[in-house]
Amino acid sequence: MTVDTFTPYNVKTIQKAPQWARIPEDLREATRVVSQVLPFRTNSYVLEELIDWNNIPDDPIFRLNFPHRTMLEENDYAAVRDAVADGDRTGTHLLVRKIRERMNPHPAGQQTHNVPEVDGAEVPGIQHKYTETVLFFPKQGQTCHAYCTFCFRWPQFVGDDELAFAAKDAEGLTSYLAQHTEVTDVLITGGDPMIMRTNTLARYIEPLLGPGFEHIRNIRIGTKSLAYWPQRFVTDRDADELLRLFDRVIAAGKHLAVMGHYNHPAEIRPEIAQTALKRILATGANVRMQSPVLRHINDDPAAWSELWTTGVRLGAIPYYMFVERDTGARHYFEIPLVRAYEIFRDAYRSVSGLARTVRGPSMSAHAGKVLIDGTPTINGEKVFALQFLQGRDDDWVRRPFYAAYDPTATWFDQLTPAFGEKKFFFADHLAIPQGAELPAVVS
Ligand SMILES: *Cc1c(COP(=O)(O)O)cnc(C)c1O
Ligand code: SF4
Repeated sequence: MTVDTFTPYNVKTIQKAPQWARIPEDLREATRVVSQVLPFRTNSYVLEELIDWNNIPDDPIFRLNFPHRTMLEENDYAAVRDAVADGDRTGTHLLVRKIRERMNPHPAGQQTHNVPEVDGAEVPGIQHKYTETVLFFPKQGQTCHAYCTFCFRWPQFVGDDELAFAAKDAEGLTSYLAQHTEVTDVLITGGDPMIMRTNTLARYIEPLLGPGFEHIRNIRIGTKSLAYWPQRFVTDRDADELLRLFDRVIAAGKHLAVMGHYNHPAEIRPEIAQTALKRILATGANVRMQSPVLRHINDDPAAWSELWTTGVRLGAIPYYMFVERDTGARHYFEIPLVRAYEIFRDAYRSVSGLARTVRGPSMSAHAGKVLIDGTPTINGEKVFALQFLQGRDDDWVRRPFYAAYDPTATWFDQLTPAFGEKKFFFADHLAIPQGAELPAVVS
């Protein structure tokens, strides 16, 4: 028997969950304290079927959902703990705001860059960075079945202003797409669009199936629900209706790709997770798998090869391994780029060619998606070999370039050109400074 009632838990209600009794006091305190700063949400399925309670706190899914003490700086942790203990609500609020500001809440500059316009007016809920693909953020899809502790979208879950950025209807999207026939892909993202009921999702998708949108060949849905709530595709009241919506997308001659956000093979082991995958594939849609590589969660080649191998066996397609972004509790999750590369390579070389459709590790930087392609020694100098998988200018794509080797670097902005060069080849073509970046699309 699997859980079939979706029960979300926040920091208050988690204390009523049966599993709370299994959490030792120091971890409970960490949950109460850190969740003042970073969002916390889990659900009945994650608690009952994904977390191995005999293995906490090291269990990767526990780490993925439950806040940990060291996600905050030590003195911040102590200050928040004391403010909460004193019942000082105003003090806690101000303190929390200050700490959040230091955690780079808007790594994207996404309110200011790449928000497109129609007839001179900004279109809410759209980002357009790479020619062929438009990202779409429907308003009702800006939350998730559970929150990942590493999430780069965390500010929107703590009531920051990003929600204002989401689209309330499909009109802005359709008028933008009608004028942009170079766009072939719409990627519906969040939060998690699969948090929406089927009829809401249909209101966003169906306009794209009609006349005038023949150039939209691919519709993608970024989602973590295959991991956090596979019941969405199996036992939810409108699960069948959802699959019929997928049928209509396929019948309209579009490719439908469910971009499944999987962080760990534990998420694909349960029978219901596999059933969900099979039901989606039976509609003619594809499922592609992607995730960042994260310390404490999946910094282990065996985890990736199990994930990809299981995925391929069930019919999913390994797609991207990302590098963790520079926001939130970054210091807790980040690993050196060289380590990310080793994990990728060790996993990649251990799987069938059918799983080697995956690309990575890739950094979603301001200039584009940058792949780390090894650390060769060229003319006696050890370097990072890099290339763009996506670039602001598609002429940059797949042109090898090199950065000075740095065993501690964890993000693209820490890299400098190799061979004594002053700048990277694309530097002169960037209109805005490096560091103002767009989000990786994970879910
Ligand atoms: C990753 C990403 C996409 C999709 O890129 P693909 O390589 O086509 O999967 C689109 N827009 C933005 C802003 C992205 O970061
Ligand atoms: S990483 Fe994706 S699924 Fe996880 S909390 Fe963020 S938006 Fe939601």
